[in-house]
Amino acid sequence: MAEGAAAATATDVAYERLKRAILTCALAPGSELREAQLAEDFELGRTPVRGALGRLVQDGFVEVRPRKGYRVTDLKITDVNEVFELRLLLEPAACELAAARASRASIEALHDLAHAEYDQTDPASYERFIVDNREFHVRLAVAAGNLRLARSIRTLLEEMQRLFFLSLTMRDTSSEQMHEHLALYDAILAGDADAARQISAEQIEQSRRRVIDSLITGFSPTSLGAPAANLGI
Ligand SMILES: [Zn+2]
Repeated sequence: MAEGAAAATATDVAYERLKRAILTCALAPGSELREAQLAEDFELGRTPVRGALGRLVQDGFVEVRPRKGYRVTDLKITDVNEVFELRLLLEPAACELAAARASRASIEALHDLAHAEYDQTDPASYERFIVDNREFHVRLAVAAGNLRLARSIRTLLEEMQRLFFLSLTMRDTSSEQMHEHLALYDAILAGDADAARQISAEQIEQSRRRVIDSLITGFSPTSLGAPAANLGI
């Protein structure tokens, strides 16, 4: 019993560490993964590493290569387009609902998150900013009173986390993003549902452009899963 619990914990630790390395691109998209090497590099046991890889395969962050071990999945332009299409359906609606019916206190509680910034010279601040950014968007949906909507938005933003990370390394958009968040925060606090919907939609388009730019600049066409000529942008 105790052994089983200990094994589960070691796998959890391995899972969290490997997932974090993938989400921050320390393990880059497309890179080959071998159990023994990962165990050594991350100072983990091989059994927990194997368990963690199994979970990362289920998450879609890692794929199995028959007889060759594992590989970090690529960032595909089709995934980006699907995620942004869905964000565009969900988030402006969430912001509109928040403006119409969230309590003033629940929006004011997001004041600090709306002011989150990162320092482009300090990669450690990227991760913090990405988490704050995600919490800001998710909690707007929570404030709107729809937890299923909030959960869907969280999943979408987590799926995009690797790309957000990459896009922060490319160009300093810290104050640009903070001003976007403040505009959204102000509109929702003012109870202006139309403005909140519109601002949210514009910002998702803006975010899509930032992510696509970083994909094009950051990776060779082969890692995009589509020839550059077919990107349609
Ligand atoms: Zn944002």
